[in-house]
Amino acid sequence: MSVAAPPQLFAFDNSFVREMEGLYVPWQGAVAPAPELLVLNEALAVELGAEVAALRAPEGVAALVGSAPPAGAEPVAMAYSGHQFGSLSPRLGDGRALLLGEVVDAGGRRRDLHLKGSGRTPFARGGDGKAAVGPMLREHLVSEAMHALVIPTTRALAVVATGERVMRETALPGAVLARVASSHLRVGTFQYASLSGDIALLQRLTDYAIARHHPAATDADVPALALFEAVLDAQAKLVAQWMSVAFVHGVMNTDNMTISGETIDYGPCAFMEAFDPAATFSSIDHGGRYAYGMQPALAQWDLARLAESLLPLIADDTESAAALATPILESWWPRYDAAFLARMRAKLGIPVSGDPGDDELDTTLIADLLGLLRADHVDFTSFFRAAASTLRGDDRTTDARGLFLNLAAWDAWLARWRERLGDAADDPATPSTMDTINPVYIPRNHAVEDALTAATVGDLAPYHRLLSAVTRPFEARAGFEDLAAPGPDGDVYVTYCGT
Ligand code: AMP
Ligand code: MG
Repeated sequence: MSVAAPPQLFAFDNSFVREMEGLYVPWQGAVAPAPELLVLNEALAVELGAEVAALRAPEGVAALVGSAPPAGAEPVAMAYSGHQFGSLSPRLGDGRALLLGEVVDAGGRRRDLHLKGSGRTPFARGGDGKAAVGPMLREHLVSEAMHALVIPTTRALAVVATGERVMRETALPGAVLARVASSHLRVGTFQYASLSGDIALLQRLTDYAIARHHPAATDADVPALALFEAVLDAQAKLVAQWMSVAFVHGVMNTDNMTISGETIDYGPCAFMEAFDPAATFSSIDHGGRYAYGMQPALAQWDLARLAESLLPLIADDTESAAALATPILESWWPRYDAAFLARMRAKLGIPVSGDPGDDELDTTLIADLLGLLRADHVDFTSFFRAAASTLRGDDRTTDARGLFLNLAAWDAWLARWRERLGDAADDPATPSTMDTINPVYIPRNHAVEDALTAATVGDLAPYHRLLSAVTRPFEARAGFEDLAAPGPDGDVYVTYCGT
């Protein structure tokens, strides 16, 4: 009997396996009984140097579902720790995921190819190692929407149904997500290396992370400190971007915060509709720890755990190391505030003047607007398109005024905004530019739910329609009006984790 050679689907080059021994366990995916490709991101496949037809062939699908590793793949389950809802799990790791390997893409960027839902690993604890079709399509949809919103994120290459049932509250069709990331290094990876007490491992991880993500830190006096600062800066920009599109991650544990600054792990996430800083969607977030308005503070909390993990590399004694790291940790707020202000200014068409006095003025203008949105339960996403419409003097049906209950308060704010814009208020370029960064379509909770419900019983048409809308988010298109409107139940929406 001859055994067919594994297919050559990607040109793998696996630096993590080569250089980071101690942080992974070699492992194989479970065999899926009847794999079926549900969605393939062809543009991303091409970016990774793969042939679309080869990925669609049975050997390609078997590779994407984890049943048969392609040539050059060296599948491993990655080790990491994590503070989950504030308490530390020293040994978390990929319980149901595998890093297949790395590919240097067409643009010269190193990308991880990773599978989620590919079976139990030594890190699985009580879990079954599996994932259901709904949540994997959800990650595919929301991460691709995020990418289209020009917000750093992991990407989704494919979702493959396994042909097997997974037991959740009911029996659900199983699936595997093939995910692409600039890496899967997390704050939790550093916690794991640090907790191991093996300083050489922590040093190797730090050098690896610097080389891969923040190479400018190599030449710093204290590279570990420079790495911390670079991660903090990337996260400040990332979280400001989430806040500017009303994204609620839902599970900002340290194992779900990347070193690269990409959004990762779309579990119980949601886009808030009516503006409310207390908005929480996750079924397990009882205290509202990861509510919309808490996200910047929680990111800083997670980054403090990164700093703690790096202390042994920052100075010989803990006290001196902490004295060096603390000012950087404290620089979170000015960095975050500046990033958020820049995003919100752009959303409102406000030019940057360079006059520091304007920062205070604009911060107040924006805070007052958010106060109005909150008081009148205004749909955050719709507001910014409507505001551009107001500047253009479009007809009353699209004017932002129609979104408010307190019309006097809106009129007063509008007058202040116009005054701040000055000549730009009447320049048609202002609303046009606003429309290039304020989305018409986000993955609205009701639409996502409807699409996933249909997909779970085999009808992928609503899913593809929604995917089409949210991956071209800035362009209003005829026939997609329902996907631009808030849901019937507003923000009464619950998401589930680890499903
Ligand atoms: P998450 O909440 O998705 O970030 O996952 C937290 C941890 O739980 C990670 O270590 C996952 O690998 C693990 N995990 C989640 N779901 C499962 C599952 N069904 N089987 C095994 N491990 C899981
Ligand atoms: Mg996770």
